[in-house]
Amino acid sequence: MSLLVVGSVAFDAIETPFGKTDRTLGGAATYFSLAASLFTPVRLVGVVGDDFSHLDEKVLRSRRIDLAGLERAPGKSFFWAGRYSADLRSRETLLTELNVFAAFQPKLPQAYRDSHFVFLGNIDPTLQRSVLEQMKRRPKLVALDTMNYWIERTPDELRRTLNLIDALLINDEEAYQLSGENNLLRAAKAILRLGPKTVVIKRGEYGSMLFHDGSILAVPAYPLEEVHDPTGAGDSFAGGFMGALAARGHATSQSIRRAMVYGSVLGSFAVERLGVERLKRLKRREVDSRARELVRLTHIRL
Ligand code: AMP
Repeated sequence: MSLLVVGSVAFDAIETPFGKTDRTLGGAATYFSLAASLFTPVRLVGVVGDDFSHLDEKVLRSRRIDLAGLERAPGKSFFWAGRYSADLRSRETLLTELNVFAAFQPKLPQAYRDSHFVFLGNIDPTLQRSVLEQMKRRPKLVALDTMNYWIERTPDELRRTLNLIDALLINDEEAYQLSGENNLLRAAKAILRLGPKTVVIKRGEYGSMLFHDGSILAVPAYPLEEVHDPTGAGDSFAGGFMGALAARGHATSQSIRRAMVYGSVLGSFAVERLGVERLKRLKRREVDSRARELVRLTHIRL
């Protein structure tokens, strides 16, 4: 079933102990789309400048990513630069140049307005809501990502938007900040009271937790010997999660639990190489094989 994503398409400069790039295709919607398109076609809404080349476009198009909703504006694309610490556990943002993204107003092509699954990437919560207002009918599932910037600066707008969505995918630090709690369970319960019926808290190498329908599921991160670049892990997790749900066509408790495994698997592939290098080359059979392995890793008989 149809899957829509709204978010940043960017160029990133990334520095990790394993390598460095001055300019590579990135952005939350890019990572999300490359991950989700392994399961189902993706409709992308975002904005790029005139520096977004034919080759950049080809990376997305060659993966069933529909770009009818990717607006082109005069000027430069969103540019982000970040540097990781030696252990990759912390990251410093060196530069955020919004460029054409500063005036971004998501506009859904008519053909996108019936999408069944919607992912609202990390943008202004008022703009996230404007996407929902453009939908012709209520999607089967709307998921949302946000970050500390919006939690701090637009808390009321964020709460209004949270009240309209089904699932929040967020990392542990943001969950603590949003809820005012410093314990995972209490944070998740507080967020569930804000509206979403499903909360996914991502904890990087420590895995992720699903809170849904009165139950909890803990999924580990796939163990890797070498992590090269954590950029976009959360967005790739979201892409695997939403892609798996959209491909199933329903958002039952069982399909949401299954989607957690694919989220974890796509997050693990994303971090194996710098930028989107690994996701670009990733094959569906590799995804399925790692998903089976992850399930085997966690299977215990008592
Ligand atoms: P993550 O590692 O999940 O935080 O995602 C990193 C991606 O998000 C990079 O490719 C950036 O281009 C993009 N990004 C960084 N800052 C922002 C922002 N303020 N709004 C939207 N996207 C951003």
